[in-house]
Amino acid sequence: MGLMYSWKFLSLVFVAVFANFNGLNYAEKAPKFSFIREATSAPEVSFYDYIIIGGGTAGCPLAATLSTGDAKVLVLERGGSPYTNTTKIRMENFLSTLSDNSPDSFSQAFISEDGVPNNRARVLGGGTVINVGFYGRAEPSFLKQAGVEEAAAKDAYAWVEKKVVHKPVAFEWQWAVRRGLLEVGVLPDNGFTYAHINGTKTSGTIFDTNGNRHTAADLLQYANPKRIKVYLHAVVHKITFATKDGSRPKAEGVIFYDANGRKHTAYLKKVSNRGSEIVLSAGAIGSPQLLMLSGIGPAAPLHSLGIKVVLDQPMVGQRMADNPLYGLIMPYTKSIPLSTATVVGILDKIYIETLNGYDFSSLSVGSAAPTQSSKPFQEASANSTTNLGFILGKFKGPISEGYLELQSTNVSDNPNVRFNYYQAEEDLRRCVHGMKTIINVLNSESLSRYRFRNTTTRELLEMMVNMQVNLRPRHPNATTSLEQYCIDTVMTFWHYHGGCRIGKVVDRDYKVIGVESLRVIDASTFAFSPGTNPQATIMMLGRSIGLRIRRSRRRRSNFLSYNFPLKVDKKKLFQAN
Ligand code: FAD
Repeated sequence: MGLMYSWKFLSLVFVAVFANFNGLNYAEKAPKFSFIREATSAPEVSFYDYIIIGGGTAGCPLAATLSTGDAKVLVLERGGSPYTNTTKIRMENFLSTLSDNSPDSFSQAFISEDGVPNNRARVLGGGTVINVGFYGRAEPSFLKQAGVEEAAAKDAYAWVEKKVVHKPVAFEWQWAVRRGLLEVGVLPDNGFTYAHINGTKTSGTIFDTNGNRHTAADLLQYANPKRIKVYLHAVVHKITFATKDGSRPKAEGVIFYDANGRKHTAYLKKVSNRGSEIVLSAGAIGSPQLLMLSGIGPAAPLHSLGIKVVLDQPMVGQRMADNPLYGLIMPYTKSIPLSTATVVGILDKIYIETLNGYDFSSLSVGSAAPTQSSKPFQEASANSTTNLGFILGKFKGPISEGYLELQSTNVSDNPNVRFNYYQAEEDLRRCVHGMKTIINVLNSESLSRYRFRNTTTRELLEMMVNMQVNLRPRHPNATTSLEQYCIDTVMTFWHYHGGCRIGKVVDRDYKVIGVESLRVIDASTFAFSPGTNPQATIMMLGRSIGLRIRRSRRRRSNFLSYNFPLKVDKKKLFQAN
């Protein structure tokens, strides 16, 4: 026994030293970019061909792509750099970084009106800096609704994967759950693949084999340093429009503030006018919020906040959706290395993954006491292990939808968001199906050697119900009815989307309908989330729409060079437009 404990202690020391060593190593190796600066160094007024609001999951690949044409690109990111403290983005620090509440945290917490805690990214690289890291490509039907051809998507995914994605280490817990999924019939075994197909598979991860996170910000390595500028702690307050009688409002610039509270304005260059544009990539919360703050949204609520209406567009902020997370936490009997999600079981609309070894009490909005006083936890503590495995699921869709509305004119305040989880009966049916599969996996032979024999499924359900993972009421039948369990213990899978939906707010080229020179490219445009996790597809979208914009700019240039008689003053002609 004594030997066992000293071995455990030694392996913990080894893991800590090794992790730290790699953390330091990565800090040295992390990409260094000459074009990333604090916004305090920005001029008061500047001019660019493309202004991208939000250096996140979509914004970074988009900016890198646009900068390799003949255009000058500006990225304005409200957060700091993920490279300043690379320890914070190591795999073992995922939950502590996510729950950091300090003012410059990479994660900004919010609670939806459903009473469910949630997070938005506030850092260069966006959600890829704070997420679980699972990487998988979307199903073809998703590409169809996103208006991206399969061949273009394939190339763009490969471009992303080259810099950011890794084949995961075969972690013990992931493999145990993998075997469990196969045992309960989540078939076939699809080995390792990025494809979203029925069965059990291992997919990619943005953590390398040393546990260092790679992010969308790494894609800036593709950028042309001479044609791009990225400002950090640059909080965009609004987009400004030129509005001439009879013509559509035209986006012309953005107003942003630096960390010292100094105001700056960046304008689109008029001289070149070969399709210069502002692109909103501020995420599913930030993009509808900024459109509304800039006067594009439902007129009545904008008027009541004193915002001048540029375009009455009732669909901005509507049809917001979030994939609910359901699942069970299981204390296990032996010490095994921590892991993030790399294995997944896919059953048509059901999607199950797992992670282990984290302090999941930080998911609780109350004190962790109820979890610790639960029988499974006590049993684990008595056996000197409080290691926890979390098997969690989402489902395709969801069908339930809600809305986002401004609560103030301050861009730093979270808007009010309601997702209406489980309003649609079908969503509830999918959750129950997913929960039954998770319970079968927990009871499988493959997991039996990790499970405390005396712990019943009911006690595990009870532990979760008592964990205060949200601010919603608990019902006495939450451990006997899986429907009630789903409703009472609902969490977010953080795949929220909508608010600037394609076909409603933006057209199939991601241009904002009803105005000129403005696009939205990020998760806010999705009508539904991919069946898998979305980061791969959001990065792919940034790249492929970026290429589309670059091509159309080139076409406009060719048109300008060849199609006009020499007498025409091209500058004047396009300034007038
Ligand atoms: P973001 O990446 O959030 O980018 C928006 C950017 O805009 C941010 O950097 C933000 O700071 C900036 N911004 C916002 N407003 C302003 C403003 N006014 N001025 C300037 N900048 C602004 N997906 C997966 O595929 N796999 C996973 O394992 C996974 N796990 C997740 C776990 C968590 C905790 C979270 C939060 C998400 C997870 N996701 C996962 C989802 C995925 O990360 C997100 O869907 C995706 O990153 C969203 O991309 P986006 O470009 O729409 O927005």
